[in-house]
Amino acid sequence: MPSVLGVDVGGTKTAVGPVNEEGTRLAAPLVEPTRTRDRRAFLGGLLSTLRRAMFEFAEHDPMAVGVACAGNIDSETGVVFSARHLPLADFPLASYLEEALRLPVYVDNDVNAAICAEVVSGVAQGLAEVVMLTLGTGVGGGLWLGGRLYRGASGGAGELGHMVVRAGGLPCACGGHGCLEVYASGRALVRYAATRAGDPVSDPQGVLAGLQEAGRLTGPEVTRLAAQGYPGALEAVGELSRWLGVGLINITDIFDPEMIVVGGGVAEAGELLLEPARELVRRHALPPGRDRVRIESARLGNEAGLVGAALEAWRRAG
Ligand SMILES: [Zn+2]
Repeated sequence: MPSVLGVDVGGTKTAVGPVNEEGTRLAAPLVEPTRTRDRRAFLGGLLSTLRRAMFEFAEHDPMAVGVACAGNIDSETGVVFSARHLPLADFPLASYLEEALRLPVYVDNDVNAAICAEVVSGVAQGLAEVVMLTLGTGVGGGLWLGGRLYRGASGGAGELGHMVVRAGGLPCACGGHGCLEVYASGRALVRYAATRAGDPVSDPQGVLAGLQEAGRLTGPEVTRLAAQGYPGALEAVGELSRWLGVGLINITDIFDPEMIVVGGGVAEAGELLLEPARELVRRHALPPGRDRVRIESARLGNEAGLVGAALEAWRRAG
């Protein structure tokens, strides 16, 4: 049976896996670090990951490639206009990969891909008004409005990570200040944990300080410690959750969605992250939207972008 390789190119890692026409993952994905030093290193790394995946998943007969990556992308041509965490500005990624791999390649924004996957086969199955936020290296957004993907006039709609939640706040990778991304991304989670490292109450066993010293204080580590109930990690997730809540209030009031899907690596913190944010929405967003909106974890988890990119490649290649 043929498959499509779904590829999720993130700011820190790239995942590739075979997906069938119904959006079912046929094998655990191959995950390798994304090389972001410069464009040459990035493309060399991506091609080697893709070639390894084509070899590893050869039994699934890959016949096209669907790539999801963060950034402003023309999904028709596969040209990346801008990508804040990847050295890809103004680069024709789809045609470059097609030439190298000799397979049809389609490229779309990662959150657009993820929201399509969640609507087709995930937590938002069959819904018409859905907003997605992904909390990863950065914060991405996607809009599924009136039963279809909303791309805006120039394809750049849904940059929810760059809504300003604090006027004059911390500088953001986009050049602005006080964006949600600065307060609700994986990097923010690490920052919140780092400020608590060595504190006698928040870091009683010195776990955060030890990780920080070893250069291993990462988002997944903080999430894992929070799940174990470690005080400083719980506080860090709580601080992030409050900022997430501010973003969700804005989204609820603007779009009145049936569901807001929260995905990305930070969302692995699950209810520890979502429940306080839901409570803020219930208290501060406007009725009736606040009473109706469901705020849920992405069901396809970290693989939503991969599955959505593959589904889009199936649709277009088929
Ligand atoms: Zn920004």
